[in-house]
Amino acid sequence: MAEVRLEGITKAFGGKTVVDDLNLTIEDQEFLTLVGPSGCGKSTTLRMICGLERPTKGNVFFDGKPVSWLPANKRDVAMVFQSYALYPHKTVRQNIGFALKMMRVPKATIDEQVLRAARTLDIEDLLDRKPRELSGGQRQRVALGRAIVRDAGAYLLDEPLSNLDAQLRVLMRAEIKRLHVDVARTFIYVTHDQVEAMTMSDRIAVMRDGVVQQCATPGEIYERPANRFVASFMGSPP
Ligand code: ADP
Ligand code: MG
Repeated sequence: MAEVRLEGITKAFGGKTVVDDLNLTIEDQEFLTLVGPSGCGKSTTLRMICGLERPTKGNVFFDGKPVSWLPANKRDVAMVFQSYALYPHKTVRQNIGFALKMMRVPKATIDEQVLRAARTLDIEDLLDRKPRELSGGQRQRVALGRAIVRDAGAYLLDEPLSNLDAQLRVLMRAEIKRLHVDVARTFIYVTHDQVEAMTMSDRIAVMRDGVVQQCATPGEIYERPANRFVASFMGSPP
């Protein structure tokens, strides 16, 4: 269970506000996408949710409990980054299991959880390979495997497909959607790609200059954009 509530979260770097009084509730098991142009504050927002960045003001709540003071490793979240550096000398199995090993989970449990994650992502037969022996899409799956091997209430994904070529991106969109249904957890997804946002999300929050312009379903955003920025950015009819 993980409802994520952002209450007036604000982040300033050296006097410059990059996320400004953001209020948003992401429901348990929802797929919410933060979309907006590069530099609008998407990654900073995600980093405040997962605990890699502390809000200058405001608070983050998981299931109603404030977590702003909790470090990243104490929060019930897992994060997938855009640059999903895998350990080059470790096998897929070791890459996926690494976080559990660090948490001193017993080996038998690690093996079991790695296998379950690999099955979910359909990479069971790649477990003994090294990253260099994998295609871009397979590597991305391993990166997703590293996140889902830990059962977390919410998964945060920061432009996970932006390093893939166009064809593979389309394929992986469907994979991530399937993963969302399979694991039945809250997904908060960040992209600058309107089509990704429109095709994958239950709801979309459109950001500009640190401010959410509109948060609504893809249909609502398309039919009734809140302002001209949303209309032009999301490609709604004039
Ligand atoms: P997005 O993910 O939407 O591209 P970011 O959240 O990464 O945007 O960045 C928002 C703004 O905050 C940018 O102007 C960026 O340069 C600035 N920023 C991000 N992180 C830092 C930091 N650690 N120190 C200073 N400025 C930062
Ligand atoms: Mg970013």
